[in-house]
Amino acid sequence: MRIRIGILALQGAFAEHSQVLGRLGAEAVTVRLPGELTGLDGLIIPGGESTTMSRLMGEYGLLQPLRELAENGRPMLGTCAGMILMAKSVLDFGLPTLGLMDITVRRNAFGSQVDSFEADLEVPALGHPSFRAVFIRAPVIQQASAAVEILARLPDGKPVAARQGKLLAVAFHPELKSDLRMHRYFLDIVASR
Ligand code: GLN
Repeated sequence: MRIRIGILALQGAFAEHSQVLGRLGAEAVTVRLPGELTGLDGLIIPGGESTTMSRLMGEYGLLQPLRELAENGRPMLGTCAGMILMAKSVLDFGLPTLGLMDITVRRNAFGSQVDSFEADLEVPALGHPSFRAVFIRAPVIQQASAAVEILARLPDGKPVAARQGKLLAVAFHPELKSDLRMHRYFLDIVASR
């Protein structure tokens, strides 16, 4: 049976995730309404603008159904704004998140002067070589509980990728490069369920 992954398509960089999943042989379905969560094996929350996405999740009645999807054991991958929305705590963010991972996240952590950059990350979970990561107005993980495994750090030590059980959050955009290992890692979590 083909793995079926939903991609939250309220706003942001969702189309690129579909292409990557297709290349890995998974079925990708876009999700905008709660009813579209039925029958999914996992979900990706893409990058974009977390404030807009949080508001739209509220308007479309998605906050509780998405929380339940994770509580029912469906793996999730959040990239950039997706990571912000999966965090239990976001600094200076007056809007609801899904509150799924025991992390505190700082938005736009690299300031306005460095809007975007790329970095080669050592990600032991993905093996060698290092992973070329694209950061766009990216957040960082400010704090994480002992239940959270930090998967990657910037050279200065800032955590930028984390896993807690079947939940995966990365501050960068793995869908923008041809290296498919982060998505494959996610699909392996889905397949092992
Ligand atoms: N800066 C955005 C936010 O705070 C995230 C940027 C991104 O997803 N590339 O939501």
